Amino acid sequence: MTEPTPAERVERVESEISEAARSAGRARDELTLIAVTKFHPASLVRELHAAGLRDFGENRHREAREKAAELADLELGWHFVGQLQTKKARQAREYASVLHSLDREALVDALAVPAEGDGPLDAFLQVNLTDDPERGGVRPEEAEALAERVAGASGLRLLGVMAVAPLDEEPRAAFARLRTVGDRVRTVVPEARWMSAGMSNDFAEAIAEGATHLRIGTAITGNRPPRD
Ligand SMILES: *Cc1c(COP(=O)(O)O)cnc(C)c1O
Repeated sequence: MTEPTPAERVERVESEISEAARSAGRARDELTLIAVTKFHPASLVRELHAAGLRDFGENRHREAREKAAELADLELGWHFVGQLQTKKARQAREYASVLHSLDREALVDALAVPAEGDGPLDAFLQVNLTDDPERGGVRPEEAEALAERVAGASGLRLLGVMAVAPLDEEPRAAFARLRTVGDRVRTVVPEARWMSAGMSNDFAEAIAEGATHLRIGTAITGNRPPRD
């Protein structure tokens, strides 16, 4: 059996997304598909662009910055989805159009003032749905306080909430919890109505719980090459 091409994978994922949207009574055009291309070369991003994708996700600053520079001839939206060091935050703003991992006060403060001549950076509050404090994300009970801080930062525009489903919980239940955190965040920032959730193995469940931004890696790219 031959491996499917990137274009074939995109087509398959697209049809599964449409199917999940239909079952949830939602429209496909409410959903933004972000192809997470971490560890893969820029040439793959180019192929996926040719297959119609425009939004790409990366989780390491250096790799993201290099790929964005190499692909500057294409009009792409770069989504930063990994843990971001505070001292790298302002550099990440130079190529990223959306930050999905705003998860602590220090990061909000580093981005509080817009870059010169630039508008605010779009950002999701990342919520930690596990009991492990080492995982990225603000604790659910601290999300509103962090949202208030974001609301006071002219360099940031809060889009909504983001999470990765824990390994030891039904994804649908986890995303339902994320949705309630989003509801609470909206009491602070009413415009923050989006939800970044759903990866290769759980995007249908995320769509059922109201996700608007899907971060899909391996289902589109194939397995990630081993890291050097
Ligand atoms: C890698 C990654 C994804 C994509 O994961 P897949 O399981 O390959 O679809 C999504 N979100 C984040 C934060 C990631 O780091």
